[in-house]
Amino acid sequence: MPILEITTMVGCPLVCKYCPQDKLNKNYPKSSKKFLSLDDFKVILEKLPQDTIINFCGFSEPFSNPNCLDLIKYAAQKKFQLFIYTTLQGASREAINYLCRLCDEGKIARFELHLPDGHNNMPGFKLTEEYLYGIKKVSKQNVVKFMTMSPDGVIHPKVYDYIKTSSLNSIMKKLPHGWRGIRRAGNLQQNKIDPYSLTNTINITKSVSCSYTPFYDQNVLMPNGDVALCCMDYSLKHIIGNLLVDSYSDLFKSKEFLRLMDENRSIGHSEYSLCKSCEKANCHLIGDDGFIVAKRAIEVNGRRTTRLSIALSKYKIPLFILDKVVDFSRAINRFKYRNKKHLTTKRLTNKESRRLDQNLLLRKNGLGKKILPDTEA
Ligand code: SF4
Ligand code: SF4
Repeated sequence: MPILEITTMVGCPLVCKYCPQDKLNKNYPKSSKKFLSLDDFKVILEKLPQDTIINFCGFSEPFSNPNCLDLIKYAAQKKFQLFIYTTLQGASREAINYLCRLCDEGKIARFELHLPDGHNNMPGFKLTEEYLYGIKKVSKQNVVKFMTMSPDGVIHPKVYDYIKTSSLNSIMKKLPHGWRGIRRAGNLQQNKIDPYSLTNTINITKSVSCSYTPFYDQNVLMPNGDVALCCMDYSLKHIIGNLLVDSYSDLFKSKEFLRLMDENRSIGHSEYSLCKSCEKANCHLIGDDGFIVAKRAIEVNGRRTTRLSIALSKYKIPLFILDKVVDFSRAINRFKYRNKKHLTTKRLTNKESRRLDQNLLLRKNGLGKKILPDTEA
C-alpha cells in the first residue's frame, strides 16, 4: 500500500539528537521552498492513487508549518486515509480539536505522539499551555500511541508529572517503556549521543531488498515537490522524482530509482545505495537447506547494544533471557529517574500542576492570564 510522508517544512525546530537534521539541512537545496504550500499540496494529491496513505510525518514536526492544519483538512476532505506522527509542538487548539474529531470518525488509522524525554534529547521542546491542552485531549484517543527518545522510556519530568496528576491515569499504562535508536541507514552522526543506545553500523555486502516497504513506495515528499526514497533518506541521496512535475508512476521508472534497484541486486557493499547501510534492509543469503532466505540486516549485523547487553553477551545467555534482563534494567532506570531529582530539568510540583490546570480552565473560558512555571527543557 503506497504511503506518502509529508515533510511540511525543512529545518525542524525540535532538533532531536537522534534525528539527522544536519544532513537534511546540508542537502536540501538552499534556493528551494522551506514550507509546503497548500496550492502545491493540492496539485500533488491529484496525482496520487486513491489508496495512498497520507502520513503527516516526514523529516520535520508537521505543525512547524503554520499551514499544517489546512493541509490535513484538505487531505481528509479528499478522503485519503491519514497517519499522523507528531510532537504536537506548534499545534493550535483548533488543530487539536480537529485531529480528535478525525480520530472519532476513524479517519486517522495511526497516530503516534512523540513525547519529550527526560534526557534533553529534544532540545527545541517548549512547554506551553497549548501543548498541555493537546496532550490532555489527544492522549485520550484510543488510536494514539506514544514514543519517547529514551532507552528506558524516561519522559520529560514536567510532562510526566502533568500526565500523572491530571486525571490521565488510563494513559499511564500506554506510556513507552523503552526505545532503541537506529543510525538511520548511516545518516545519524553519533557524536552527540550515547553510542550504546544505538544499533550497530550496518554494512551489507549481499544483495538487499527492503523489509519495510517491499515496493519502495513509502516515500517522503519535500516542500519543493521532490520525493525522497524513504524515511531513512535524510541526506536526500535518492530523489526519485518531483511530484510537481512528474506523474506518480514516473517515480518508479526514474533513472535514480532504477539505478538503486540495480545496486541493491548486486553483490558487495555500495556507498551509492542507502539500502546497503540500512537497518530495515533484508539481506538475501543461501540458507542451511539450500534455499534463499531473507534476513533482517539488524540480525546479520548485530542486535541493539546497551551497556548491560554488551556486558552480559560474553556469558552466552540466550537472547530471550537477555531481552528480559534489558527490559528489567530499563524498568529500574525509569523508576530511578522518576523518583530521584538528578535530572537537569526541574519537576512540576503538585501546586504548579494544579495551577496549570486552573490556567487551562480559565483560558478555555476566555478568562485569566498565562501563568506557566518555568519552561526550560
Ligand atoms: S525526530 Fe521529529 S520532531 Fe525530532 S527533530 Fe526529527 S523530525 Fe523534528
Ligand atoms: S531498505 Fe532502508 S533505505 Fe532502503 S528503502 Fe527500505 S527503509 Fe529505505
